[in-house]
Amino acid sequence: MARRIGIFGGTFDPVHIGHLRGALEIAEEFQFDELRLIPSARPPHRDTPQVSAADRLAMVELAVQGEASLRVDDRELRRDKPSYSIDTLESLRAELDADDQLFLLLGWDAFCGLPTWHRWAELLEHCHLLVLQRPDADSEAPEALRDLLAARSNNDPQAIDGPAGQIVFAWQTPLAVSATQIRQLLASGRSARFLVPDAVLAYIHTHGLYRAPN
Ligand code: ATP
Repeated sequence: MARRIGIFGGTFDPVHIGHLRGALEIAEEFQFDELRLIPSARPPHRDTPQVSAADRLAMVELAVQGEASLRVDDRELRRDKPSYSIDTLESLRAELDADDQLFLLLGWDAFCGLPTWHRWAELLEHCHLLVLQRPDADSEAPEALRDLLAARSNNDPQAIDGPAGQIVFAWQTPLAVSATQIRQLLASGRSARFLVPDAVLAYIHTHGLYRAPN
């Protein structure tokens, strides 16, 4: 039987309850067989180089332990430079059955920037797009996406069929937490408890991550 697989990319520096709760809710709503968190190689312009890809990956792995619907996929970290989404999708597709459904999760803002992505017109050959909308979002799509939206939108998750090619929306109120906030708390010696899973916090402390330089 065809599987339903979601993919959710991020720097996860560190992974936090906003990512995890959002992922779990989507996995349930869309009845995914699995939702894969895919840590991205950090683009060179991002800071805090003391946190390695290996540490970010280890934290995501600890975070999803015991939650069967959430998995971790490290393929972008196995490459030596940041991956284009199209590369990740092609690499995933090469491993999946042809009729498996693949859903790429992305926020509304990222979706609006789609026409700037590398080989963006090919993305829908490999996956469905699952666009996460905030209730307060400005929902005017750019001109370049209007025809695509008119042709490909489907607002009933149950009615999505086929392995790829449709655009579906999910409404989510994100928890007010960000990785930036967590890094700042830790750098100033404050607690990040309850913003990240305890196992992630223990890893951060054991490995001395996100501390202000002495
Ligand atoms: P930073 O503060 O370092 O920019 P971040 O907390 O936004 O990081 P990322 O790893 O950049 O985390 O985000 C990965 C994905 O998770 C993005 O699509 C982002 O929109 C989403 N995301 C981030 N924070 C939340 C949240 N609180 N609730 C739901 N989704 C979130």
